[in-house]
Amino acid sequence: MSEDRTFDVVIIGGGINGTAIARDAAGRGLSVLLCEKNDIASATSSASTKLIHGGLRYLEHYEFRLVREALAEREVLLRTAPHIVSPLRFVLPHDKSQRPAWMIRMGLFLYDRLGGKISLPKSHQVRFSGHPLGKALKKDFTKGFAYSDCWVDDARFAVLNAVDAAAQGGLVLTRTKVTGLTALPGDGLWQVDIKEQGTGQVGQAFARVIVNAAGPWVDPIESMIAPGFGDYTLRLVKGSHIVVPRLYDGAHAYILQNTDHRIVFAIPYEKDYTLIGTTEVEYDGDPAQAQIAPEETQYLCDAVNRFFKEQIKPKDVVWSFSGVRPLVYAGNEEADEVSRDYILDFERHEGLPVLSVYSGKITTSRHLAEEAVNRLEEVFDELSEPWTENEPLPGGDLNTADYKTFFKTFRQEYNWLPEDTAKRYARNYGSRARGIVKSARNTGDLGVDCGDGVFEAELVYLIKCEWARSVEDVIWRRTKLGLHITDETRQNIETVMAKYLDEDIRETSFG
Ligand code: FAD
Repeated sequence: MSEDRTFDVVIIGGGINGTAIARDAAGRGLSVLLCEKNDIASATSSASTKLIHGGLRYLEHYEFRLVREALAEREVLLRTAPHIVSPLRFVLPHDKSQRPAWMIRMGLFLYDRLGGKISLPKSHQVRFSGHPLGKALKKDFTKGFAYSDCWVDDARFAVLNAVDAAAQGGLVLTRTKVTGLTALPGDGLWQVDIKEQGTGQVGQAFARVIVNAAGPWVDPIESMIAPGFGDYTLRLVKGSHIVVPRLYDGAHAYILQNTDHRIVFAIPYEKDYTLIGTTEVEYDGDPAQAQIAPEETQYLCDAVNRFFKEQIKPKDVVWSFSGVRPLVYAGNEEADEVSRDYILDFERHEGLPVLSVYSGKITTSRHLAEEAVNRLEEVFDELSEPWTENEPLPGGDLNTADYKTFFKTFRQEYNWLPEDTAKRYARNYGSRARGIVKSARNTGDLGVDCGDGVFEAELVYLIKCEWARSVEDVIWRRTKLGLHITDETRQNIETVMAKYLDEDIRETSFG
């Protein structure tokens, strides 16, 4: 920690909301400390369906403002993070058991227009007979609709926000838990007790404002301030996904209306796989321990089997993950009817300000962050203007017309990189991939070859510039190599990382 341990803002939680607020606030001239008790995006923000979407079904709940804001953000993120956000075409198979076709057509008409000017293809009806979009579906499904949304690497989205927060002068501490909050009204400061998870070392920082962005842990943080503090209560809902070997050909996704009126997505994932989710189950356990239950796996298999020719069974599942949605408690609605809109609750305790973030979506996190920092104008009168709408996230400054052109150029520059590694570097790191490869002329220049296209240079970058501290940080959050590598490669990664973690080579900015 820096010598001066007093910050304008201490942010608790390194999920998408905390990291986006840290980025925005640091770029607007505030001194920022972000504390994350585990790894960046180790909780809900790496367990989402990974869609940047308006949420077609929220139209049914008349959530027009949320859908409009989310659709507008889709365009912002396509522009500012073109390496980790990409357009995705959705196919909605339709039959008589569902809402009438005219209603869906009307919903899609609105969906194409609510967000203002969009760069993505508009929706249309599809007859499946002889059409590639219908090839994987059972014969009972003869028609449907196609519409556009986007896909994001959720964990990398949070990491890149943290990287930019640090580049703007913020201090990001991972594996650092906030264990206590004490108001010191005489000094106009919060005392923040922190504990480093690995070493057990404890310390203190001081803040003018606390931002509680602890996701599913927002309530426990509020209790740390004072019993009963905070105007809202969370309702935790577990959502699980399964990953199976690729179910169908094509780059499109399916949105499947289940018999219980819930929606299940089937999305192309990591080249060789299909991601299927999600379930929704009320949850009262520790959010960090959320895991898929056998009946959830069966539910997702059944949902898919109703539509696809290719049938799947629980034994086909190669990976699964679960996350906990921190929704705002508002009565006894069904979980899928609870609003996904966020609430920013600005309150004071003993005169000292606290801003708590309830709920939200990956999609609207940039907008949420901007609004959160705007709320701090009440405390800091010299805040600079909002800035993130047009500023690329790290690696997003591709300087080409589109991602395809960027990849083509990158591939030509480093034509000796194995094809899959080049693809992975370009997608994960965008323009910063050049900073990993630097002046290397062959794979030998990238250091130890760990296997499966993983080289020492990438690991050094991830440790130095993206707070990677364990193999899991690398293979499940900074990348999804976990799905592709052998045990031997994993062991080699661990060995190489250990060498660097012994030295302290952390950097907060990337040269
Ligand atoms: P989190 O990511 O949970 O971050 C909170 C962080 O706080 C955690 O990392 C935790 O370790 C840390 N923390 C807690 N206590 C402390 C402490 N004492 N000290 C330090 N750190 C602490 N949104 C979309 O836009 N698109 C989707 O497709 C989508 N799909 C979803 C699917 C599922 C199944 C779920 C569950 C959610 C989905 N969402 C989606 C919503 C989205 O994932 C969440 O709104 C978002 O990730 C919440 O981010 P967060 O930063 O608030 O919480």
